[in-house]
Amino acid sequence: MTRPSPQTQGLLRFLDATRYLAEFKKGLVAHFANPKRVLTVCFPVEMDDGSVRSFLGYRVLHNNVLGPGKGGLRFHPELTLEEVSSMAALMTWKCALIGVPFGGAKGGVVCDTKQLSDGELRRITRRFISELGDNIGPHTDIPAPDMYTDEKIMALVYDTYDTMHPGRNNRPVVTGKPIDHGGSLGRRDATGAGVVFATEQFLRLQGSDVSKDLGGQRIVVQGFGKVGLAAAQLFVSRGAKVIGVSDSQGGIMNPDGIDLEAAESYKQSTGSLSGMPGTSNLKNEDLLLLECDILVPAATASQIHASNAEKLACRLVVEAANDPVTPEADIILQERGIPVLPDILANAGGVCVSYFEWVQNIQNQRWSEQEVTRRLRQRMQQAVVAVLQRHQQMLEKHPHDPHAGMLRTAALTMAIENVTCATLERGIWP
Ligand code: NAD
Repeated sequence: MTRPSPQTQGLLRFLDATRYLAEFKKGLVAHFANPKRVLTVCFPVEMDDGSVRSFLGYRVLHNNVLGPGKGGLRFHPELTLEEVSSMAALMTWKCALIGVPFGGAKGGVVCDTKQLSDGELRRITRRFISELGDNIGPHTDIPAPDMYTDEKIMALVYDTYDTMHPGRNNRPVVTGKPIDHGGSLGRRDATGAGVVFATEQFLRLQGSDVSKDLGGQRIVVQGFGKVGLAAAQLFVSRGAKVIGVSDSQGGIMNPDGIDLEAAESYKQSTGSLSGMPGTSNLKNEDLLLLECDILVPAATASQIHASNAEKLACRLVVEAANDPVTPEADIILQERGIPVLPDILANAGGVCVSYFEWVQNIQNQRWSEQEVTRRLRQRMQQAVVAVLQRHQQMLEKHPHDPHAGMLRTAALTMAIENVTCATLERGIWP
């Protein structure tokens, strides 16, 4: 079965949501189907063996009505411009929903970090940032980490930009930096923490009597990177049990709960989770079908699709990754009564603390980790309440429409509405 590409997926969802926003100025909502600016760069890099290789890099600014562009840099061998554009749009809606004054952007380089030395990665990053020139900046477009990029790469982004623009405070040009260079306390785990705060609030407000909190819930997490691991650890600290986890090479399970610290060191020493003592191995596709209370896809797009959505054995899906559930799977899950906490809500903790980092950088301040966590929790909780309220209104207005019954539609319509209203308030130039 062919699955829609992530780009088509994003567009389908956007178009679905716009059906509920017909009252806006003609043509304006439709305008948001396209990005504002698309940049493709091709640059040479000298490799360790003395040869030269060409790399493709992208930066897409989807919208900047609410503020400068904000979005991660992904280094991945299969990265495409379509995917980057789709993720940039998702960032616009995420920022608008969580209430941070940013627009949506995304970027990255087509490369396989697992095949590159530290020196090659450094040269690729520096050259890519210099190619982007003034298309990024503290008040124009602000990158952050994403898949296969981390705080070391963000330090290089900052250093390169700072070298190009000496004599001013350039720290707010990028977020997700190391703490010593203006990174925020709490940023590293922010997306995972936001996932847990959102889930907790959702259960508190919507859970059945036996599932009003995270205590005792059985959780499965796909993806053992920055987001998946942080979320898994925090779920466990709240009394939940993580019974399955996976990385790109396969999954492991233990119905009594996985020792996450042991799993982390096992992965560090062997390069994968498979074969960890005290757990059973399983294929990635089977991990998603494990019987559990909460399934948390925290890896990559389109993992839950028309062919496996019918077989999922969870009671709630929380999208820690971007776009892990396809539109067809959304409908199947909706009909099966399995709610999906959508990405623009569930994983907004990362951009939220990125915003806190940006504010701290501009003010030359450092907030305590408790302060960052307190503010993050508050924003995530407020956003869940707002989405649930909209969801209720939509259910009442369109009782027989499966799209209207999805939390995603409620979240997306709110976000699109915010950007549309802001555009109208600013006025369409000239
Ligand atoms: P990461 O590179 O740190 O980790 C990705 C993990 O996914 C790795 O463990 C990798 O082995 C695993 N993986 C890749 N393909 C897989 C597959 N097919 N099956 C199972 N595991 C697989 O990336 P990350 O920062 O944790 O991001 C994960 C997801 O969360 C991405 O979709 C990203 O866009 C999204 N996200 C990240 C942030 C952030 O702050 N890092 C914020 C919002 C959303």
